[in-house]
Amino acid sequence: MERVTDPVDIRARREPAAPIPEVVAKRRAERQRPKAVFDLRDVQVSYGVKPAVRGVSFDMGRNEITALIGPSGCGKSTLIRCLNRMNDLIPAARVEGKVLYHDQDLYAPAVDAVEVRKRIGMVFQKPNPFPKSIYDNIAFGPRVLGMKGGMDEIVERALTHAALWDEVKDRLKANAFGLSGGQQQRLCIARCLAVEPDVILMDEPCSALDPISTGKIEDLMIELKREYSIVIVTHNMQQAARVSDRTAFFTVAPQGDPDGASGNDPTHRSGVLVEVDETEKIFTNPSDARTEAYVTGKVG
Ligand code: ADP
Repeated sequence: MERVTDPVDIRARREPAAPIPEVVAKRRAERQRPKAVFDLRDVQVSYGVKPAVRGVSFDMGRNEITALIGPSGCGKSTLIRCLNRMNDLIPAARVEGKVLYHDQDLYAPAVDAVEVRKRIGMVFQKPNPFPKSIYDNIAFGPRVLGMKGGMDEIVERALTHAALWDEVKDRLKANAFGLSGGQQQRLCIARCLAVEPDVILMDEPCSALDPISTGKIEDLMIELKREYSIVIVTHNMQQAARVSDRTAFFTVAPQGDPDGASGNDPTHRSGVLVEVDETEKIFTNPSDARTEAYVTGKVG
């Protein structure tokens, strides 16, 4: 009997699943992604009944700098405050969805928010040193936590790590308010490092600083990511492009518009994540037209 099909013909007619270079590139990208320090799953944060930011799902890599960008009011600060439970301190704030930190639920009942804020430190827009000496600013956290080891050594290590030691080593007993704005911000970073965190959250850390001080903080961030994971909120596009490995772009969208792609209802607006990707891609070839319009300065 004559053969109806030839196995060779069948193979020849099969559709290729995807061009090989694309498959290889995808697999390489997957392999290169570091483990997540944070994994957000459908996170929504509301003040009272109004969601400020909703439906946010993405992960942030260990020893990476993740930048959160987007127009004012899209929920960047609200979201970054979720990552160390700072929103707990705002009575009206309610966090829904899952925030996983090294695969653990940051909001599980057994989790101690004080311990969370020790492991996940935060630096704010305006430098906020305590009205104390430079030394006591750094020693404050370690003393409260009863950390072991010589305090002089802890202070020197933190100030060295924050690239401030050489500038202040001869005046450690001087009041921190005598430092310049840029030095005060590095002091706040040193204060954060003194309690040996794992993550540093930075909410517009350079917006009150001059360009030279800003450059120093940016250099410091790149240095610090070897040991820490960093998340930064910034309004400064160049800054996000210069320092971050990955960038998440948020926008403000009407309620009931799951990805914010349509409509412009001025009521019930809240922040949504538009896309997250390698920083280079976000700034050169973003996937979404809204990201492109924002990063090229056409809107926002
Ligand atoms: P962004 O950092 O992107 O500018 P925010 O997170 O500061 O955005 O704000 C997002 C929304 O949440 C805004 O509508 C803002 O008014 C609101 N919001 C922020 N903080 C509070 C708060 N403590 N109480 C009530 N609403 C707030």
